[in-house]
Amino acid sequence: MTAAVHLERDGDVAVLIIDNPPVNAGSQAIRAALLARIAEAGAMEGIRAGVLIGAGKTFIAGSDLREFDLPLVAPQLPAVIAALEGAAMPWVAALHGAALGGGYELALGCDARIAAPGTVVGLPECGLGIIPGAGGTQKLPRLVGRARAVPLICGGERVAASEALRLGMIDAIAAADLRSEAVALARSVTGKRHVIALTPPEEPEGAFEAAAHKAAARGRQRPHILAAIARIGTVGRIPPAEGLAAERAAFEALRITPEARALRHVFFAERAAARPVLAEKVRPLPVARLGVVGAGTMGAGIALAALRKGLAVVLVDSDAAALERGRARIDADLERLGPEGAAAARARLSVSDDLAALAPCDVIIEAVIEDPGVKAQVFAAIDAVARPDAVLASNTSYLDIDAIAAATARPGSVLGLHFFSPAHVMRLLEVVPGAATSARTLATGFAVAAALGKQPVQAGNAFGFIGNRIYAAYRAACEFMLEDGALPQEVDAALEAFGFAMGPFAVADLSGLDIAWRMRRQRAAGRDPRARYVEIPDRLCELGRFGRKTGAGYYRHVNGKAIPDFEVEALVIAASEAKRIARRALSQAEIQRRALAAIVNEAGLVLEEGVAARPGDVDVVLVNGYGFPRWTGGPLHWAGTRDPDQLTDDCAEAARAAGPQQKRADLHALGIWER
Ligand code: NAD
Repeated sequence: MTAAVHLERDGDVAVLIIDNPPVNAGSQAIRAALLARIAEAGAMEGIRAGVLIGAGKTFIAGSDLREFDLPLVAPQLPAVIAALEGAAMPWVAALHGAALGGGYELALGCDARIAAPGTVVGLPECGLGIIPGAGGTQKLPRLVGRARAVPLICGGERVAASEALRLGMIDAIAAADLRSEAVALARSVTGKRHVIALTPPEEPEGAFEAAAHKAAARGRQRPHILAAIARIGTVGRIPPAEGLAAERAAFEALRITPEARALRHVFFAERAAARPVLAEKVRPLPVARLGVVGAGTMGAGIALAALRKGLAVVLVDSDAAALERGRARIDADLERLGPEGAAAARARLSVSDDLAALAPCDVIIEAVIEDPGVKAQVFAAIDAVARPDAVLASNTSYLDIDAIAAATARPGSVLGLHFFSPAHVMRLLEVVPGAATSARTLATGFAVAAALGKQPVQAGNAFGFIGNRIYAAYRAACEFMLEDGALPQEVDAALEAFGFAMGPFAVADLSGLDIAWRMRRQRAAGRDPRARYVEIPDRLCELGRFGRKTGAGYYRHVNGKAIPDFEVEALVIAASEAKRIARRALSQAEIQRRALAAIVNEAGLVLEEGVAARPGDVDVVLVNGYGFPRWTGGPLHWAGTRDPDQLTDDCAEAARAAGPQQKRADLHALGIWER
């Protein structure tokens, strides 16, 4: 499969067909071929216009990211676009599939744009820590206005053809045959129509500033977001050539930053994680009809995620009131799909208090309470009613998948599918094969993730899988710091300053302290007496402080605001005194160092034990499920950017702080510095 651009002619119109399977990624070879063919087309006898179109299922869906870690090689995209703009004849971009990033910038270098229905267009570069570098920030605002361009570019929005037409991002939608309609459009275009020569549309006073403010906050003030805003801001204020040059300079500087590298790492790690770790490719079973058992927090969320993606769902709960609550919650949320979409989704949902209703389902996901006895009973009952070829999954957070599978006569068809709360929002899905899980069952688990639009990561069947296991070590490290001298709000502030979406104690208040409390009491007998045990969360729970839902936890919650609480401060100080720990001030740097070292050490253990197959899998889990800042690349990519000796020392200290039972990972053996 070699990348090529084919030149054909339709009468007096030249047609360039971009052919670089599978997604026509813009690469050096494609750019060179485009440049050559554009010149050839211009020199042909009797040609009055040209069309650019993609072969196969898409236009240029983006740039070849593998080139991004290497020095730039000529010809670069601006040169290709300059050739289109400098041509004597008009060029029309004929878009289908996806025209994203450099693909859409190429289209912006044409004199008109037509798209097949179902096409998506946009500039997603900011998602990778860079900005569009071939005119995107300078041309899009001239079509849609500067204020509208800000979220389009900073948010990397993928815009559907109908909306793109309304915004002016494209000029027409093809009614039937894209190529012939593009050729007709090319014939009708008289003269050149450079987007860069347009005056941006008038906007209300302050509209751009408001959009910029919002995008900067959303983008956590990251350098590439601020650079994109700055480039958009100059459109119409400085000469176009200056604007293009400044954009290119910013693009070139950003692409080699550690932050852009880290974001590319997450991009590739997510792609790798999306496939099961299997010796050979296995075809999954169908996943069109999903059964969900338990209509509580998780079950209703899972059902909702499936309904939104067009699947049929059978929702079962033994408690009629819980079933009705779950259905009402789903119903309310489906309103967002609009009257028609909501009605169609509701028609795909059936609810029942009888497990027999699961008989037609392809895949059945159990989300009842976290109790081994109840789970075993429910699985035996599901096994009795499910089709022989149905896959059975548990959403358990901590229980052993093998024990659950053993309750059925089909352990090969059982696996863990660990969703995150809220299940219709969070993208992460841990896919957990047990000892008996067949390759086809595992592949089907990944197919469920794909059907639901989730980011799967395969995890081993061990306590807490990947994410909860690492998070527990992190939270424990943060609790130690409370005893050592920090207050909850200080720990939270330090970790939010590192880039976590929320600090650990704010998270605890949000998800509720009672669940972990119940689990600690259940597991109290099995606790290692050598482990450092912090009693502060138990004391809070004994006071009925379960977090936001009770108005108090680590904070007091007033009108949706978390306020530091002197009662908690007193309780924390008393906890230190009880253990005769002399409290001292902890700097932000120390808090970050200790918390991150605990994460990295546990992540190392998870890898050593084979619970995660690759370092990137850990990164994908922490970034997508636990608010770890994406721009660091996740904990293990981040670790790879640190000084090995210092980090090894920090991890040893973190392990010591947890008690003699805590294992230490051998980070060097894991190869995290060998990239
Ligand atoms: P929940 O209490 O909100 O819902 C459980 C539901 O199961 C209830 O509606 C209950 O009526 C129903 N149920 C109980 N026994 C049943 C039976 N025999 N047959 C049918 N229905 C039955 O619990 P949840 O928070 O949704 O958790 C469900 C599972 O998901 C647990 O295993 C939990 O560990 C796991 N989980 C929870 C979260 C979370 O944040 N809440 C996240 C990931 C995984």
